[in-house]
Amino acid sequence: TSAQIGVTGLAVMGRNLARNFARNGYTVAVHNRTATRTRELVAEFGHEGDFVAAETAKEFVAALERPRRLVIMVKAGDPTDAVIQEFAPLLEPGDMIIDGGNAHFADTRRRERELREQGIHFVGTGISGGEEGALHGPSIMPGGSKESYEPLGPMLEKISAKAQDGAPCVTHVGPDGAGHFVKMVHNGIEYADMQLIGEAYQLLRDVAGYSPARIADIFRTWNTGRLDSYLIEITAEVLSHVDAATGKPFVDVVVDQAEQKGTGRWTVQIALDLGVPVSGIAEAVFARSLSGHAALREASRGLAGPKPAALDEAEAAVFADRVEQALYASKIVSYTQGFHEIAAGSAEYGWDIDLGAVSAIWRGGCIIRAAFLDRIRAAYDARPDLPSLLSDETFAREIAAAQDDWREVLVAATRQGVAAPGFAAALAYYDALRAERLPAALTQGQRDFFGAHTYRRVDRDGSFHTLWGGDRSEASA
Ligand code: NDP
Repeated sequence: TSAQIGVTGLAVMGRNLARNFARNGYTVAVHNRTATRTRELVAEFGHEGDFVAAETAKEFVAALERPRRLVIMVKAGDPTDAVIQEFAPLLEPGDMIIDGGNAHFADTRRRERELREQGIHFVGTGISGGEEGALHGPSIMPGGSKESYEPLGPMLEKISAKAQDGAPCVTHVGPDGAGHFVKMVHNGIEYADMQLIGEAYQLLRDVAGYSPARIADIFRTWNTGRLDSYLIEITAEVLSHVDAATGKPFVDVVVDQAEQKGTGRWTVQIALDLGVPVSGIAEAVFARSLSGHAALREASRGLAGPKPAALDEAEAAVFADRVEQALYASKIVSYTQGFHEIAAGSAEYGWDIDLGAVSAIWRGGCIIRAAFLDRIRAAYDARPDLPSLLSDETFAREIAAAQDDWREVLVAATRQGVAAPGFAAALAYYDALRAERLPAALTQGQRDFFGAHTYRRVDRDGSFHTLWGGDRSEASA
């Protein structure tokens, strides 16, 4: 039998992806460095479809029909290179290697270039949705050549999540590293979404004085409105969960130090390189890092804070509604920043990424799936060259309606001494963008003063320098 697709790397993601292909009627060759995993997969799930178990790389490649479609789902980094080195010599021109791991897009660009010389298509593919998504339908972000999408796209469309309107959550994102770049920014936005939700929770707890169970109910209500999303839904589940051992809210028995695997950090690093202000995403990454500094936090615990003031029941209810506004407005800002980064990456690397199509494939399967993404797609459909999501009329109107509450929430957070860096960074971004004048003019003056870095004038073209150490006359630079 010849298989239409092969998956090598059969840990949680690869195993579920292979099952997903098989359940959709494809014959799937399966392979793993440690062969017991391959045998286990076939023994446990062989009844779900047609699997061809391969013990060696040679057997694996021989089992695939041409052009060969070989999916790598191994640990990202060196293991990916090791696996490519093992398989590439066995492949022929026209075959393709699909890397579904969380690779850095710069690695993907390098691998694509190297394999292209051999006539092999390298399809760096972002896959989101965790192990459940891999099995039941993930959001898929393939990069690579356009030609490779023709024999591959229909299969990915079949196994992908479907949005509410039935559209498959997959599109050819763009050449070489475009898919992994978009997956990276997806994860950065995911960090921001999670941080904003975390801040909303903490404010409802410390300012409104609500219990986790009550906050879970509030999130459930929010989930029926414009915040309707997977992350809000699971937040309610986590907050209402009670620890069996202690009878306490689960959230109170978990160590409050958040971990990360690095894609959020990459999003910020690359944004710095591209000069894109992703302040909200950066705060989310820093918030996780701050949480992990246990000794520093311990040493800081005695520092002074404000006197807490309790809200009465009516005030708390008003405050909770305001938090919804603040959360929604901040969410618009983090997506604005994320899409700005994708647009900048696309321009830098010549990817020609369709931002509307990207928002459309995030509507299902992935961690940030949300009703909200339909609105983003509508914004880009209406105006593909939209300079920023904030310039979309609908979003601008919604923020206009939310901003008073957003500010009040930050006033309350400040007064009560509750850190809300995500909300604050988002509002600062909004206020800075809409400002008539920024203190950057003063910065330019300082730079010219100490370093003769020159400045431009509002009323004349050219560069100028003031003779600060002399008579303070101005010279054309
Ligand atoms: P892991 O990242 O834990 O990787 C384990 C797999 O990699 C095993 O099959 C292992 O083989 C193989 N492997 C490791 N080193 C080598 C090597 N040098 N040569 C050959 N094979 C090697 O598995 P996951 O399923 O969690 O993730 C797979 C990929 O998917 C990763 O890149 C991950 O970042 C990405 N991803 C994961 C998500 C998740 O929710 N977990 C979501 C989206 C993407 P062996 O059994 O022999 O040790």
